[in-house]
Amino acid sequence: MFCPFCSVQETKVIDSRLVADGSQVRRRRECTVCKERFTTFEMAELVMPRIVKRDGSREPFNEDKLRAGLQRALEKRPVSTEQVEQCISRLKSSLRATGEREVSSEFLGNLIMDALKELDKVAYVRFASVYRSFEDIREFGEEIARLGD
Ligand SMILES: [Zn+2]
Repeated sequence: MFCPFCSVQETKVIDSRLVADGSQVRRRRECTVCKERFTTFEMAELVMPRIVKRDGSREPFNEDKLRAGLQRALEKRPVSTEQVEQCISRLKSSLRATGEREVSSEFLGNLIMDALKELDKVAYVRFASVYRSFEDIREFGEEIARLGD
């Protein structure tokens, strides 16, 4: 994003929020050189961050992959297709609202775990046990114990 004041390309996002029913992202940016601040409105579809994997490679956000992961965790659980779709759309909103061009796969994984924790605790544990490489069985036990909170 070019600074409209001095035209350098390096600007940082200082605030980011969804507007117009989530179809647009309003961002406050600050130029890293001249320190001027300005606001941009971007179409939400254009600002889905890319996912940086653990090995450093980048891939576009893949909604089908997310859906498949959720469905696997939610297999035979009392959660409707509609609830899953709502969950996906909330996750997408959260990703867009970061205002980042890239987020780590770890960040995405944590978002998914938070969403599943609210949706279905069994699915959450399934997802977490596959996704997160728990250091040892004790850590996993503590995680499950926290579900009661
Ligand atoms: Zn500037």
